[in-house]
Amino acid sequence: MTLLDNLPPGELRAGGTDLMSRPGTGPYVDLVGLPDLSGVTWQPDGSARIGALTTIAELARDERLHAAYPALTLTAGALATPQIRAVATIGGNLLQRNRCWYFRNPAFSCHQNGGDSCPARAGLNLYSAVIDTSPCLAPHPSSMAMALLAYDAEVEVHGRPAFPVGELYGSDPTRDHLLDPGEILLAVHLPPPAAGERAAYYRATSRSEAEWPLVEAVARVTPDGATAVSVGGVARVPLRLPEVEQALAAGESMEVAAGRAATRCAPTAANGYKVTLLTATVLEVLEQATAPS
Ligand SMILES: Cc1cc2nc3c(=O)[nH]c(=O)nc-3n(C[C@H](O)[C@H](O)[C@H](O)COP(=O)(O)OP(=O)(O)OC[C@H]3O[C@@H](n4cnc5c(N)ncnc54)[C@H](O)[C@@H]3O)c2cc1C
Ligand code: SF4
Repeated sequence: MTLLDNLPPGELRAGGTDLMSRPGTGPYVDLVGLPDLSGVTWQPDGSARIGALTTIAELARDERLHAAYPALTLTAGALATPQIRAVATIGGNLLQRNRCWYFRNPAFSCHQNGGDSCPARAGLNLYSAVIDTSPCLAPHPSSMAMALLAYDAEVEVHGRPAFPVGELYGSDPTRDHLLDPGEILLAVHLPPPAAGERAAYYRATSRSEAEWPLVEAVARVTPDGATAVSVGGVARVPLRLPEVEQALAAGESMEVAAGRAATRCAPTAANGYKVTLLTATVLEVLEQATAPS
């Protein structure tokens, strides 16, 4: 039995930047100060363990992390505002709830708060998902999850063996992540980088700061020629794009491969612009990750 097995009942709070802005939450159980959950630890094989309470600002300014996983630190440095990055944690970022304005407004009922419909489908859906994987159309909110997907990261949850970060999420329309209430995310594990690998991050935004991206993407190119492409802002979950990765592996041009990102898109009447942004953002990160240095 450890300290973590004896936490009082309540909603787990890390930086509180998401939790405290949602109506109806609490009482809270503070995680900040629990031992072994903060900071980056390097293993002899070059892999890294990032404690769940490590702040986004700490990640963004970590030079060793930047040398090993540049798209991760670039993503961290681009999200939200300096004030939020100073207190927001990687664990809270991965487990934050979606930003759909219907979900965050107590006057509306939907799949995400006990209802059985999605008012965004027939309502205001300018920022909604364009890859339609669920009755809920809210795009996944975590930029860090999107970047970690490209690095094949795993997560460590108290009492469970480590598992791929993508398995934190699913198309369940009632939930933004698949941890049960009270389950504690302990850390993120990143495999050792390949010597000479390169990566790029880009976000398409409607204003330069303090906003979630409309679309964001990471491309990671390893010396064996393989490319990993992950995207955010376009689906209920952060996504890898095998259709783009396989087109590149088959020798297609970057333009043609980036165009494959549109294959699965089924936009609403209002958010067709995201399909164009998606292919352009994917092309941008591919070009940046392969540009002469
Ligand atoms: C203006 C603005 C712009 C933003 N832009 C972006 C953006 O571009 N990209 C992006 O990714 N985010 C963005 N954010 C969101 C911000 O990054 C998150 O609010 C923040 O990362 C959440 O971290 P936190 O530590 O404050 O989490 P908290 O608010 O403390 O927790 C969030 C959720 O995770 C749970 N939780 C936290 N830690 C753990 C743990 N270790 N184990 C189990 N459960 C846990 C909590 O119970 C809660 O449900 C933005 C926020 C604002 C206000
Ligand atoms: S998009 Fe999701 S969160 Fe928004 S109203 Fe529909 S079901 Fe609710």
